[in-house]
Amino acid sequence: MARTELQGQGISPGVRIGCAVSFDHAADEILRIPIVADAVEGEVARLHRAAEAARGELETLRADSRGHLPDELHAIFEAQELLLQDRSLLGRIEERIRMRQINAEWAVHRVEQDLRRQFEDLDVGHLRERVDDLRDVARLLRRALGGVEAHDLAELGRDVVLVARDLTPSEAVRLGRKGVCAFALETGGPTSHTAIIARSLHLPVVAGLTGLTDLSLADTPLLVDGDRGRVLVEPDPAEREEALARRRAGDLHAREMAATRSLPAETRDGVAIRLMVNIDLIEELEEARQVGAAGVGLYRSEFLYIEKSPELPSEDEQVDVYRALVDASRPHPAIIRTFDLGGRKLAREVLETQEENPVLGLRGVRLTLARPEIFRHQIRALLRAAAGGDLWVMVPMVTAIEEIRAFRSFVEHAADELTAEGVEHSRDFPLGAMIEVPAAAVIADRIAREVDFLSIGSNDLIQYSLAVDRNNEHVAHLYQPHHPAVLRMLRGIVDAAARADVPLSLCGEMAGDPAVTPLLLGLGLTRLSVAPLALPEIKSRLRSLEVPTLRRVTERPWARRPRRRSAASRRRRRRRADRALTREPRGTLRRPREPGC
Ligand code: PEP
Ligand code: MG
Repeated sequence: MARTELQGQGISPGVRIGCAVSFDHAADEILRIPIVADAVEGEVARLHRAAEAARGELETLRADSRGHLPDELHAIFEAQELLLQDRSLLGRIEERIRMRQINAEWAVHRVEQDLRRQFEDLDVGHLRERVDDLRDVARLLRRALGGVEAHDLAELGRDVVLVARDLTPSEAVRLGRKGVCAFALETGGPTSHTAIIARSLHLPVVAGLTGLTDLSLADTPLLVDGDRGRVLVEPDPAEREEALARRRAGDLHAREMAATRSLPAETRDGVAIRLMVNIDLIEELEEARQVGAAGVGLYRSEFLYIEKSPELPSEDEQVDVYRALVDASRPHPAIIRTFDLGGRKLAREVLETQEENPVLGLRGVRLTLARPEIFRHQIRALLRAAAGGDLWVMVPMVTAIEEIRAFRSFVEHAADELTAEGVEHSRDFPLGAMIEVPAAAVIADRIAREVDFLSIGSNDLIQYSLAVDRNNEHVAHLYQPHHPAVLRMLRGIVDAAARADVPLSLCGEMAGDPAVTPLLLGLGLTRLSVAPLALPEIKSRLRSLEVPTLRRVTERPWARRPRRRSAASRRRRRRRADRALTREPRGTLRRPREPGC
């Protein structure tokens, strides 16, 4: 492909250059991996071994179901076995591996797509049925080949830019750790969990590149510029040089920023701000130490699943992780959020839930209470780790105080179990609620009376308040942290926490944006939890600010409470409104001119 510039939205900063590798998880996860000429015969042999294994699997299925299933189903298995012996199918796949020098999984995927299209175009009944057989056979073959796990992108010996329509957070972690240097995506928004993970892994991402996966980009050099939200296909030497220079400047800036580590996090007029870190992946703890964080303000424990998916992490494994967080946070607390599963987060991989609208479905604390068997080990692990340090537990997606009460009795029940077993634990940890749903923001005063602390999850609070999907690139411009409705809600939560005298922090991505730091401090927030990468920038920003000035700015009309009017004033206003409805307008308002005048 010739040099082209694709414009999207940068959702994770930085700039990197690498070769495009396609990724498709339509049915399974499928990567297109180029292979060297010497490896082609090995790849063809791998295909034939996989076909043998898939045939074996079908034979076993057919034998096991004899007597239990109707004859038609036997006929289906037979047809599929025949398909797997068919030279024209395997021959086509083999040819594709040889001609394109690509991995067998991708060759199976593309041949399946081609044949399906041909069968569907013919529009002949019995051929349409063959499409289903073909899909099953292709899936069997890919499973036998081992899929993504059979490949390590590091094998390619060069930087890889992963090109995909969309990417789940767990795919972002797994592939991000496999040698990918950047992502170029068709979908996604800056506060999506995929973007959050990419920032944790320091991988630039450009999203919103509609039609990207239809381009023939395989093996093409791509420059992913997460700062400017663009991807350059076949960048020229000057563009490459400029990207490298920016990377060097970025590294230098990060080193300079790291020097703020020893400076106090306080405003110019001496207001101390507690700057904590959000931890998604446990390896970020070292970075948190380097930037001098005042403890962990949010540990997204659900990402533990990513390491283990599709299994659950064991209770002992969890105890080790939670203890590591507590130790790393000392002398400050570590705030651990219970699994915020559901929504778009790992539901597909772990829970197998099929919800029409999962973001409004069984997620966060709703899932905790609905599926206690998943959460029992987590609560026990938290109780055990709490015995060894300052651990705070936070509940996601709270919408009602009954949820807090039910959660407390769940904890008590698990603690009684541990007492009966004679296992060391502590049930005295502070329990907090995330305020990330408008309903919770409105009743924050009541929630504050039920808990020991609150934390604002602005990512979801904005999504739900403004009805703007945080993953949807088409409405990304409407995702506005400074929308008056959001700011007014924040003001209400700050007031509620102050009246109930409970600590309040903000741990959404908004806390890590230096442009909104003045607003947050002006609203009265004094605890922020941000990604380790963002912490030095925020510290340096707040050190240049003065709170009284900010307070004046945030006393704008959107923040003010409506003036209370006297009964007489209300009557006068009503009379005026009635007059306006029944009379000709007065004053400067002119009658419309007659047409033609
Ligand atoms: C939030 O919603 O702001 C938050 C911190 O939680 P998450 O981003 O994991 O949904
Ligand atoms: Mg949230």
